[in-house]
Amino acid sequence: MFTIDQYIKAESLEQAYSLNQKKTATILGGCGWLKMGNRSIRTAIDLSGLGLDKIEETETEFKLGCMVTLRQIETNDGINNYFGDSVRECLRHIVGVQFRNCVTIGGSIWGRFGFSDPLTLFLALDADVKLYHAGIVKLSDFVKMPYDRDILTHVILPKKKQKTYYITHRATETDFPVIACAVSKLPEDFTDNGFRVAVGARPQRASIVLDADGILNDGITEESAKKFADYVADSLNFSSNIRGSADFRHHLTRVLVRRALLAMNQEG
Ligand SMILES: Cc1cc2nc3c(=O)[nH]c(=O)nc-3n(C[C@H](O)[C@H](O)[C@H](O)COP(=O)(O)OP(=O)(O)OC[C@H]3O[C@@H](n4cnc5c(N)ncnc54)[C@H](O)[C@@H]3O)c2cc1C
Repeated sequence: MFTIDQYIKAESLEQAYSLNQKKTATILGGCGWLKMGNRSIRTAIDLSGLGLDKIEETETEFKLGCMVTLRQIETNDGINNYFGDSVRECLRHIVGVQFRNCVTIGGSIWGRFGFSDPLTLFLALDADVKLYHAGIVKLSDFVKMPYDRDILTHVILPKKKQKTYYITHRATETDFPVIACAVSKLPEDFTDNGFRVAVGARPQRASIVLDADGILNDGITEESAKKFADYVADSLNFSSNIRGSADFRHHLTRVLVRRALLAMNQEG
């Protein structure tokens, strides 16, 4: 359990950012992860009074404030109508409803946890993050950035008519994933053929693989799905931990990416 010397409920993002420049300060999300550690926090900065707990839908995007809980996202009709089952599927295994009612999307994406389900899916959806100081950054860039003293204010899910499918393997329900795969097909205005796969819990942070060789150029069939899944697995590095070996994760990636592509294709 962490300890806090001074608790401040921020009155503006400017104040929160300025307070957070001290190394001894910590931004509070839902505290689900923080409470697992034993940090000694000099100044705890609470963002809950800044109206950042809203999901805004426009013509072009869903804008999730950093204090939006995982459960708010999981049960949001607009998001579920637009992205089908993928977002709900990505969140529903995380611990339990009470937990998802507390933990935030800001803490989840800021943490850039290797095991993160939303980080994996949102990479495949070509999401952006909005940082108070650095502005809008592609999630695919943010995931490689070192931790700094900025504040993540929003996660932006663009409406690009993505088709998507999310699948994980877990040793037991509600445990961290052994491997997490998100496949998506973005529309044609991309430089590639629009297919992308994000694989997380390798156990390293999720990475994206594009169809650089055009394996799926003629569409998804049993054969092309298998070939692309093998290509994805061979393009990534995997490691071993208590949840599974590197070889097992490589094998699971081949199986799950193939299944996800076929399922996404079937859903139309
Ligand atoms: C037991 C357990 C099991 C879990 N299982 C899974 C799982 O299976 N899949 C999965 O994807 N996730 C899992 N998680 C992670 C969980 O879903 C959340 O991602 C995690 O708790 C962080 O969210 P939070 O709101 O609790 O953040 P906090 O614990 O409050 O904060 C986490 C970190 O982010 C910083 N931070 C928070 N918000 C911001 C912000 N807006 N700007 C800058 N920095 C910020 C904090 O200072 C802290 O360093 C699990 C967590 C626990 C504790």
